[in-house]
Amino acid sequence: MYRSHNCGELRIADVDSQVTLSGWVQKSRDKGFMAWVDLRDRYGVTQLIFDDSRTDASIMQAAKSLGREFVIQVKGTVIERESKNANMPTGDIEVLVTELTVLNESQTPPFTIEDETDGGEDIRMKYRYLDIRRNPVKNSLIFRHKVTQEVRNYLSNLDFCEIETPYLIKSTPEGARDFVVPSRMNPGQFYALPQSPQTFKQLLMVAGMDKYFQIVKCFRDEDLRADRQPEFTQIDCEMSFIEQEDILQVFEGLTRHLLKEIHHIEIDSFPRMTYDEAMRTYGNDKPDIRFGMKFGELNAVAQHKEFAIFNNAELVVGIAVPGAALYTRKQIDGLIDWVKRPQVGASGMVYCKYENDGTFKSSVDKFYDQADLAKWAEATGANPGDLILILSGPANQTRSQLSALRMELGNQMGLRKPNEFAPLWVIDFPLLEWDEDTQRYHAMHHPFTSPKKEDMHLLDTDPGKVRANAYDLVLNGNEIGGGSIRIHDKETQALMFKHLGFTPEQAQDQFGFLMNAFQYGAPPHGGLAFGLDRLTAILGGQETIRDFIAFPKNNAGRDVMIDAPASIDASQLEELSLALQVK
Ligand code: ASP
Repeated sequence: MYRSHNCGELRIADVDSQVTLSGWVQKSRDKGFMAWVDLRDRYGVTQLIFDDSRTDASIMQAAKSLGREFVIQVKGTVIERESKNANMPTGDIEVLVTELTVLNESQTPPFTIEDETDGGEDIRMKYRYLDIRRNPVKNSLIFRHKVTQEVRNYLSNLDFCEIETPYLIKSTPEGARDFVVPSRMNPGQFYALPQSPQTFKQLLMVAGMDKYFQIVKCFRDEDLRADRQPEFTQIDCEMSFIEQEDILQVFEGLTRHLLKEIHHIEIDSFPRMTYDEAMRTYGNDKPDIRFGMKFGELNAVAQHKEFAIFNNAELVVGIAVPGAALYTRKQIDGLIDWVKRPQVGASGMVYCKYENDGTFKSSVDKFYDQADLAKWAEATGANPGDLILILSGPANQTRSQLSALRMELGNQMGLRKPNEFAPLWVIDFPLLEWDEDTQRYHAMHHPFTSPKKEDMHLLDTDPGKVRANAYDLVLNGNEIGGGSIRIHDKETQALMFKHLGFTPEQAQDQFGFLMNAFQYGAPPHGGLAFGLDRLTAILGGQETIRDFIAFPKNNAGRDVMIDAPASIDASQLEELSLALQVK
């Protein structure tokens, strides 16, 4: 038997017990006649004591030659500690060792395996298995397990059935490129790895499975963006005989369950906001509503004077920054520089201080009088003591610039509190999105999303105006889930493909299997998928997903531990019919 107890469980009540422990040497201290070793495993740390007067000389000797991260087994007696450590659950006791076996030696690790480590990001990624021995990383993985377990409990209790779908499939469009796998048996042909199980879960609804979920890996070959992983995990769900309202209820319930089980937080029903409203009031379809600074549109009260920049703009829009009227010129210039950075792209910013005495002082006093500025304050909801910041230009672009500034201010002012949770639904997304590059409409969610019946007549005349039965669940400024009510008849699906620029042949070739299935009694259905990595990170009070993934890729999409991707040898290429033809 390797152990009678783990390293986290012995307490004062265990004093005098004979125990066997196994684990890693976290650190050792040698005082000559006495030595201590902190023994670590997943469950905690227990102090071992070796003492000249009570320990065999040979064991004493062996204890002194233990190195960091050696794997050892000890037998001994639990004794009460003389100097207790209230910071450790096992801090009242220590184990007086009578037998010591070295199970495996270790090289000196490349960084310290402590909560605060001296190892940089790269080296810790390379030795991820050592990094996982550290509490912060280990605890994040255990936390993820807990989230996953709660998801399974909640959905299983509602009769959802977890069903696996294949990984070697044909392309499912979710707006990214596919990772492909060459087929050795079918020279020149490829499988695609799923960007999501979208079509399979719909086929499971045709198959009558009624309520499906799966905690599943998805693969998307996207251009690298910070904190994105080419493979990530979804909580993927689908239901039959439901309307949008049913889905919102079930998954609001799931989110509420998680917040309650994990944080003991109870949240009433989640607010809902249409996509249009989110864009108008926050410039963003995933607003962080933990703080205010809602947008105020100023066209009506700023385009009547001689100020050409505003007069020529499609949109003039501002926010009131609470208490920031006392910002210095330097602080305001800092914000102006911030919005002018290429990543944000504003050409300038107008400001207006709403002084505590009720007067206004703006950077455009030349053009606007106090009565004008009072109207700006009204439109942005500013109070005395606030600073109004205003951007202008093309509407979409200006909204997204002001949204970036609002988030930056939220961060700077500490308004984005990690232990505060503000979920909301964003609903009524547009069905289609104009793509400048290809000069075509794309499905904003995916091609299987149903248009709102009352907007169908606009498909031919004003496709950008058609709204979809699509929704996102947003938490603290992050989209954590999204889905839609699906099309479930062949004709509408064919019409949709036509509007997306597919010829009937192309549609049949790529999605014939789905449209055929729709001819055999497809029930009305819909669903959504949560991003498990992001959801876990946010519930864990963090914004980076990497710490919640056991073996993540780095920002360049590489696994630096196993060194992938890597080249394969010529014979393997040939076997896969991928050999380059050398002339
Ligand atoms: N398949 C969708 C996605 O990955 C989710 C859904 O529509 O259910 O975003």
